[in-house]
Amino acid sequence: MGGWTHVDQTFVLHNAPIADGSDEIITDDREEAALVVDSEPESCIATACVFLVTAPIVPLLPAVLAPPPPDPDPPYAVVRDAGWKGAGLFAARDIPAGARILVDRPLAIVPADLPIREPFDALLTRLTPNARKRLTALANCKALADHPEAEGIALTNAIRVELPGPPGEYGAVLPRVPRANHRCVAWHHSLSPALTPASCALHASVVFDLPSLSASMYALRPFAAGEEITHSYVDVLGPRAARQAALSARYAFRCDCPACALPPAAAAKSDAARAALRAWSALRLRLGAWAADPCRADDALHASHAEALALAESEALHGLRVPLIEDCARASALLGDYPAFCAHAQEVVRLCAVMDPERAARFTQWMRDPTTFAEPEGRWGQRKKQREELERNREIDDMSIPW
Ligand SMILES: [Zn+2]
Repeated sequence: MGGWTHVDQTFVLHNAPIADGSDEIITDDREEAALVVDSEPESCIATACVFLVTAPIVPLLPAVLAPPPPDPDPPYAVVRDAGWKGAGLFAARDIPAGARILVDRPLAIVPADLPIREPFDALLTRLTPNARKRLTALANCKALADHPEAEGIALTNAIRVELPGPPGEYGAVLPRVPRANHRCVAWHHSLSPALTPASCALHASVVFDLPSLSASMYALRPFAAGEEITHSYVDVLGPRAARQAALSARYAFRCDCPACALPPAAAAKSDAARAALRAWSALRLRLGAWAADPCRADDALHASHAEALALAESEALHGLRVPLIEDCARASALLGDYPAFCAHAQEVVRLCAVMDPERAARFTQWMRDPTTFAEPEGRWGQRKKQREELERNREIDDMSIPW
């Protein structure tokens, strides 16, 4: 397999088992014997996606890929000129909230920090002409003197991905997702099972799925035809000056989004709202803690989350909406409040139907039959029952006082 050693790790190139359109049939390294393309030497074996990973990861990567979700047809998004920003991603037609905007398959998956040049140069030669063309067409804000071309493009465009095996930071270079320019808002978000407001990556707009080697981008609010689709490259909870400094240093990008274009007094207000959201996120009342603590008011969770939702709305940080609304629905379930539960659950279902159909199905089922709600925090109406029991015990205690 060969490879390049850096410190105590050996990095190798591994062909992903995917086909690149119609021109090349791609296979796995383990089947290389079957893949002698037009008598080219083995070193020329090309793929539509190359992994540059440490050797122990290779056997853990999928040898056969699950089918990716279908790309919307006709397409929701189109890449076109975005003026001084270069290329941009635009809504080709109206996009409803919750829709899957596009499905991308990576061109390369590379380590976040590997200070040797050769593997990145070799990676480019491993790609099919189509894939290489698509990769090198992406923006590169790094100087070629400092980073090999493929690494510079990855540093400019890659999204973080989790790979199996030994820990290491990896990024996937996707052909279309990076065309979405930055804005200091979160209009898409990812819904991983572990997603909670505390860990919510407000600027994670894309869900990567290793079994199908695909990334899906979702809309968390509706887009009108022609509108630019953007996502966030930096921490959107930081103040304007910090966001702009990070964008300039990392992406040589100047943001002219509404939050960055505010006059000084309004900008200070926006910074304060984002700082309050960050503080809320760190200190927030968690559903489990509220459910387990009868000393807390029944409406404490709703009140705390309503405050965060208002702040998120004011700053167009829609990435927080689903986890917050989901928490409110669960709190209503524990309180046995059916109308309030349905109001929140319907919103979860609306926003998750495409992004996370299993979650949407769970909430639909609970709306149909609330008695099936049984979660780690408790069952339907459990908190209400506990409250009634506490009241009864208090009355008994009161009656038992002899004087
Ligand atoms: Zn901005």
